[in-house]
Amino acid sequence: MALENLQPASVFKFFEEICSIPHGSGNVDMISDYLVKFASDRNLDVTQDAEKNVIIKAPGSKGYEDKEPVILQGHMDMVAVKEPDADIDMTRDGLKVTTDGEYVWAEGTSLGGDDGIAVAYCLALLDSGDIPHPPLEVVITTNEETGMYGAAAIDLSGLKSRKLINIDNEEEGVFIVSCAGGARVYSELELPREKVSGLKCRILVRDLLGGHSGEMIKCGRGNANIIAARTLLDALSQTGVNLISIKGGVADNAIPSMASAEFIIGADKEDDVKKSVGTTLEHLKAELEGKDDNVDISFETEGEVSDEEAFTLYDSVRLLKLICVYPDGVQAMSAQVEGLVETSLNLGILKTDGNKVTIEQSVRSSVESSKAFLIDKLTCIGEAFGAKVSVSGRYPGWKYNSKSELREHMVSVYRKLYGKDPKVMAIHAGLECGLLSEKIEGLDCISIGPDMDDIHSTSERLSVKSAANVWDFLKACLE
Ligand SMILES: [Zn+2]
Repeated sequence: MALENLQPASVFKFFEEICSIPHGSGNVDMISDYLVKFASDRNLDVTQDAEKNVIIKAPGSKGYEDKEPVILQGHMDMVAVKEPDADIDMTRDGLKVTTDGEYVWAEGTSLGGDDGIAVAYCLALLDSGDIPHPPLEVVITTNEETGMYGAAAIDLSGLKSRKLINIDNEEEGVFIVSCAGGARVYSELELPREKVSGLKCRILVRDLLGGHSGEMIKCGRGNANIIAARTLLDALSQTGVNLISIKGGVADNAIPSMASAEFIIGADKEDDVKKSVGTTLEHLKAELEGKDDNVDISFETEGEVSDEEAFTLYDSVRLLKLICVYPDGVQAMSAQVEGLVETSLNLGILKTDGNKVTIEQSVRSSVESSKAFLIDKLTCIGEAFGAKVSVSGRYPGWKYNSKSELREHMVSVYRKLYGKDPKVMAIHAGLECGLLSEKIEGLDCISIGPDMDDIHSTSERLSVKSAANVWDFLKACLE
């Protein structure tokens, strides 16, 4: 056991067990069954649904049997990423968990502290005989990271509690009390190809910072997909551009840091286009100064081609203009919460597949009507350019509750323990609290969690001290 000397021992024991079971999003059967077995072995009431969500109920501890029940909630899936040379199959192998006493991480892969630590806290509580707590309803959802599919489908009608502590935040001392809703918008264009002759070229937009499209959108970083389209749109003043393909980005909710395009220009236009690309890059360097300083665009030629299949000039221009015309980035700031982005969007993925180009955007807003209007706007613009626009993965925002007993209680416990106030915050990112709040009338929610760095990446690490602090805090709140 790599973590056996860490405190709290019970929490890290279960955390290590969870890490030994593969549980990337979409691969949750084993972890879900493990949770069911954990509960059955302890004679706890447990249900597992078709989405593999697990609900475990436990009576209150001695003297707390008649207290108001509380929901503890987290998600069992993790973002499974590994370094290219890591010798591990994350669909079948457990993680190589390790520690230096200060942090816990996994060798060569993400750790899944997000959100394995929540599951470990819940199991440690349910397993202990001596921690005072009210009746518990533990809700562990699936496939949060790929679109909150578990939370969207879960049936909570059998729960008695009206108070929910979500343990899916990554900063100790920060209580999340409101989050944005979102949706994914797909624009598909069918573009005819024709045989084109000329000089085949390629641009590569790279070295942008990227980042999570919720947290980082307010930083004004460059979007590689849009920069690629803009670069070619600029080049159109020099020559015709027949696109062969354009692609970039890895997820709708990540600001793309890299994009590329292949295209054909007039055979004698190399110098003109090279100059044009240089000018676009100069403009971008100036615009992104202090926001995304390393932006780079490389331009390469691959020699003359004849009769190469490429999109017609008209359709190439139609696509490039659509990408550039779409709004992107911050659309509105909150007037109630200083510094909070209210509405934003991110053109996360651009891909070419035969004659079809798909544009994928992630839309967020803490105001439902603004989210709906932004989706309408994208639909209108897309359709005006001949795209087929569809929407999926809609999830509701989580509205700030001005009279939250749960928040008041937890703030006062925090003050008593640490002699200072926690940071109570709204975020411009999604949490399951929005979906869950829709399912229980009058649900009072809060989101907390221990310090974690670089979640969703191979540098993810969990602070041992912070995991212990949040454990103590959680126990004090339940008591
Ligand atoms: Zn999470």
